Amino acid sequence: MTLPFPPVRTPRRVAVVSVHTSPLEQPGTGDAGGMNVYISQTATEMARRGISVEVFTRATSSDQPPVAELAPGVLVRHIPAGPYQPLGRDELPAQLCAFTSGVLRAEAFHEPGYYDVIHSHYWLSGQVGWLARDRWGVPLVHTAHTLAKVKNAALAEGDTPEPRTRVIGEEQVVAEADRLVANTQVEARELVGLYDADPSTVRTVAPGVDLERFTPGSQMLSRAALGLRQDAVVLAFAGRIQPLKAPDVLLHAAANLLRRQPELRDRLVVLIVGGPSGSGMEQPRELRELAGSLGIAGQTRFLPPQPGQALVDVYRAADVVAVPSYNESFGLVALEAQACGTPVVAAEVGGLPVAVSHGVSGMLVSGHRAQDWADALAGVALRPGRRAELAANAVRHARRFSWERTTDALVATYTDAATAFRDSVVRALQEEVAV
Ligand code: UDP
Repeated sequence: MTLPFPPVRTPRRVAVVSVHTSPLEQPGTGDAGGMNVYISQTATEMARRGISVEVFTRATSSDQPPVAELAPGVLVRHIPAGPYQPLGRDELPAQLCAFTSGVLRAEAFHEPGYYDVIHSHYWLSGQVGWLARDRWGVPLVHTAHTLAKVKNAALAEGDTPEPRTRVIGEEQVVAEADRLVANTQVEARELVGLYDADPSTVRTVAPGVDLERFTPGSQMLSRAALGLRQDAVVLAFAGRIQPLKAPDVLLHAAANLLRRQPELRDRLVVLIVGGPSGSGMEQPRELRELAGSLGIAGQTRFLPPQPGQALVDVYRAADVVAVPSYNESFGLVALEAQACGTPVVAAEVGGLPVAVSHGVSGMLVSGHRAQDWADALAGVALRPGRRAELAANAVRHARRFSWERTTDALVATYTDAATAFRDSVVRALQEEVAV
């Protein structure tokens, strides 16, 4: 017997769950980074297509309104769960019940079937999405952003491993989600190989870059804006300061370079942009102390997280942007720098070989030895002809990525998840009728 179910349509309303960090926060410190940018960019792009998005995030201050508008068609709902203050990721699992109850209450004000799909980001949100999915009868699409097993396999020396609670929580979400979105094929394979994901549920969707904001421009003007001398050799790092991101590798490499070429001492500038995050919060001054002990305090400049045009100036001012991470599920900074016409020297890990085309738009370095990094950085920054060639290719490489494309693929994934979800409900009902 065939039951009369309407065809699945493109979703009109998406519930995005982002428990531990809000897309309204400035990325580059604490818990705010690429995931926040991903959520705000794709949500804004969806809203432009007439799909409204509501992002559920934990309220961290009593000053936050219950609902804020991020962009036309994109709302951020601040859900009280625990104290009105930032909580560590180890403290957040205990608030998931309170958070989920807030999400369910907010939805209960609407007519049934209000949201067409749930998209959860990071495992904590996946736990919330899993329960909401069962209550609302809509599919759960999940993006992990980072995976504990992958992170633990590539820890920086002395860094704290991700706890077992997280591994178990991730395994549960992987088993429950209707669709898993991976940033790269590598991550897709990790989900299947390490987390036993059903390959038919995994979709690889490349993240994007804001090609209107990150454009090539005058290095001279950007250096002037940052107060840097025009003949400086600028090596930049932008992102959350924590051992996993390895800004210390850049400092060691810069010190190595100066030992070999002391004549650079007056011109070399190492620009470190971002604030403490994760296990890096425990020793926020560690990097400054390292610069001092390496004898490059005078060459190293620290800037707090930069918004908008100021970040564009950092990328444009740099001869090279370094991304020395031990692990990186993608690496938006690498794409943004290239979109600004700056070659990237990146670690050959995770998604970075997709974000950077080795020998074309930048260089990939295997391992984290100071000498290798110094060689790679010098090979770009101190060879103007080579740098110009890489820079031109970098712009072209970055243009292959856009948030429009990412959003196209996400919407297709939502529709596909909804079709599979509807079919499974139909099958279950048919079996019930047959009995
Ligand atoms: N970022 C920023 N200001 C800063 C440093 C970083 O806005 O001072 C943003 C940057 O534009 C990028 C994000 O933070 O979009 C970092 O994303 P990435 O994927 O490189 O690293 P993640 O934070 O996800 O580990």
